[in-house]
Amino acid sequence: MDAVSQNGTSASEPRRLALLGATGSIGTQTLEVVRLFPDRFDVRVLTCRQNVERLAAQVQEFRPECVAVGSAESAEAFKKALPADAPDVRVLVGTEGLCEAATRSDVDVVLGAVVGFAGLRPILGAVRAGKQVALANKETLVVGGALVTQAVADGGGQLLPVDSEHSAIFQCLAGESERAVEELVLTASGGPFWDRPADTFGDITVEEALDHPNWSMGAKITVDSATMMNKGLEVIEAKWLFDVPVDRIQVLVHPQSIVHSMVSFADGAVKAQLGVPDMKVPIQYALSYPSRWPASHERLDWDELSRLDFERPDLEKFPCLRLAYDALEAGGTAPALLNAANEAAVGRFLEGQLGFLDIPRAVERVLEQLPVQASPTLDDLVAADTEARRRVEELPLPTSN
Ligand code: NAD
Ligand code: MG
Repeated sequence: MDAVSQNGTSASEPRRLALLGATGSIGTQTLEVVRLFPDRFDVRVLTCRQNVERLAAQVQEFRPECVAVGSAESAEAFKKALPADAPDVRVLVGTEGLCEAATRSDVDVVLGAVVGFAGLRPILGAVRAGKQVALANKETLVVGGALVTQAVADGGGQLLPVDSEHSAIFQCLAGESERAVEELVLTASGGPFWDRPADTFGDITVEEALDHPNWSMGAKITVDSATMMNKGLEVIEAKWLFDVPVDRIQVLVHPQSIVHSMVSFADGAVKAQLGVPDMKVPIQYALSYPSRWPASHERLDWDELSRLDFERPDLEKFPCLRLAYDALEAGGTAPALLNAANEAAVGRFLEGQLGFLDIPRAVERVLEQLPVQASPTLDDLVAADTEARRRVEELPLPTSN
């Protein structure tokens, strides 16, 4: 018997995959996992916003039925980028196209690797359509966690975490009763500025913020890691994935990024999941779950690993983490406002229009200025997102450099 059938996965029934955000960091690493197990996947859908050259190369290799791109111009450019002998592929456009791609009847598993709020509608659609959703796109749960988890509870699909911390917690919770959980402990690398004096934060350049010590990721999440907003978004993501109240989700800075997160239990036991920082491991687990597929991803080297450090986060130096806790406690549209203000501010920081310190300032200002609405519908969340972005795009913010 081979390892596949022992694990209960039949090689004769490949998982029909829709990969949303195929050209990004998580998207391309997902396709690396697919390459390792060509018999276990049938790639039906690939999507991107505008990186059509890369998408065209992926279509040549993985031969999906359908792609979705962000705009009509990208659709035209994609068709031009395809070689004459390329396979036939249906091309969908815009948010509608992405939602259609995510809910196709010939898809079993949707891997959500779009960045930002743009992931919410297709992921909500996929869950409502009963798909198994492997979710990297944390902003979906930050903004629409109540709607997405309600759709799961109503008999929709299953949510499986891809984010490394949440995958770690998910693995620690395997076989445990919910009542036995005392606390979730999310680990954070601290990002590139953990040890940098706070009085120099105004001078931080885009290049410095994009230079993450342990992980290679897309630009937005890399900046979020530098401000520690990423950990704040992950606290909110954990609340929705694991249904644990905010006062029982804590963050510890762990600069080595070896312990990916921990769960402490009612009897004093603590479980942790460890490994080399490599997103292919949690991506593969979300796709192979409940099995584990043998793979030669890099192993921990116990001779090199001399110490594991843990420290409490500094919420004054990294106010984004505090703002995220506050937004989670405020509930309703507050996390949507936080997320939209952050996306807009990070976008303007990457374009050189705002300083690093303007990011938390912009988020705090939006949260102070805009009212929070309890129990929002999807339309309410879209409206909150639009208004928060508008505030950050239009208000002349003081630049710190
Ligand atoms: P990325 O920027 O590298 O890739 C984003 C992908 O989404 C690209 O394919 C892009 O074409 C597509 N996209 C961007 N904007 C879009 C839009 N408006 N509409 C449709 N498609 C759009 O980002 P990434 O680093 O791969 O991150 C993807 C998601 O996974 C994020 O939510 C991030 O927080 C999460 N995540 C990433 C990592 C990582 O290691 N990169 C780890 C954990 C979680
Ligand atoms: Mg993470």
